[in-house]
Amino acid sequence: MTTSTAQSPAPGHPAQPELPATMRASILKRQGDMVLETLSVPQLAPDQVLVQVAAVGVCGSDVHYYEHGRIGDYVVDHPLILGHELSGRIAAVGSAVDPDRLGKRVAVEPQRPCRKCKQCKAGRYNLCPDIEFYATPPIDGAFAEYVTIQSDFAFDIPDSVSDEAAALIEPLSVGLWACERADIKPGSRVLIAGAGPIGIIAAQAARAFGATEIYITDVAQDRLAFALEHGATHALNARTDSVEGLDVDAFIDASGAPQAVRSGIKAVGPAGRVILVGLGADDVELPVSFIQNREIWLSGVFRYTNTWPLAIQLIADGKVDLDVLVTGKFTLAESEDALRAGKQPGQLKAVVYPGR
Ligand SMILES: [Zn+2]
Ligand SMILES: [Zn+2]
Repeated sequence: MTTSTAQSPAPGHPAQPELPATMRASILKRQGDMVLETLSVPQLAPDQVLVQVAAVGVCGSDVHYYEHGRIGDYVVDHPLILGHELSGRIAAVGSAVDPDRLGKRVAVEPQRPCRKCKQCKAGRYNLCPDIEFYATPPIDGAFAEYVTIQSDFAFDIPDSVSDEAAALIEPLSVGLWACERADIKPGSRVLIAGAGPIGIIAAQAARAFGATEIYITDVAQDRLAFALEHGATHALNARTDSVEGLDVDAFIDASGAPQAVRSGIKAVGPAGRVILVGLGADDVELPVSFIQNREIWLSGVFRYTNTWPLAIQLIADGKVDLDVLVTGKFTLAESEDALRAGKQPGQLKAVVYPGR
């Protein structure tokens, strides 16, 4: 008599659990029109994991797609699932992935570089011309019960890191990458324009990098007060206080406001750095001779590379606090309310829970 073990999992490996065939997802049909629908659970490629989504942060870009149906050249001309700031639990693994990963809580880096081009090989995979990014047409995002991601872009998180904080590693990564590009180090003096979620996160990141003076500007007094409690050391009202002559080592713009960019540059000392994070006008007039005379470095940032491991460490060590940013919690059916929540005063980050 012969027996077959073909149906059994390898010794020591848990079996893939039974998964539902369908899932709920909140879909942006067109500008201003979101509906809850039932879709097939996505199929796994060999190198991917299936993540059951626990929490998704609402980002300014999600709101922009919802309100305007496009960001620059990216147009929502087919139904799109929004959401790219997420955490969850691994519910299934592809054939090439270690089955020990099943059941792990993870934070997802929501991008898929080609891994073969010149930029990828140089370690700058954020600049990969063929990169796919969640919730950027035509790639679906995470306002859904399940998503797929390459196994090495799903990072294990310790129990001490909440689902919300793990989801907000995505915006934290923007702040960490900006600080890295700004060359923030122990003793640095930094100016940040804009006390929204990214500005506050950049302030926390700068502090974690060792900056000792962190100035933040905004026009909203409540945001400035919050930023002072959670990262910044000095708050300045952009309407009434001048930043010129601060002579900081670095200026990070998280406002996208042309006037804030110009005055922020004039706060930078010789050989200082300017990092443009905020999305606003495509073209901005700059004080060129000021930049030349001081040999100021100026760069944009496009997302981030290799930030999740550091981010997880900083959260686990209590060096940054992302949970304080969460001001609204929504079920998947309330995704549209979550997208509108940011407009209310006092709101910073809305979080959607696809399992609820
Ligand atoms: Zn985001
Ligand atoms: Zn590439």
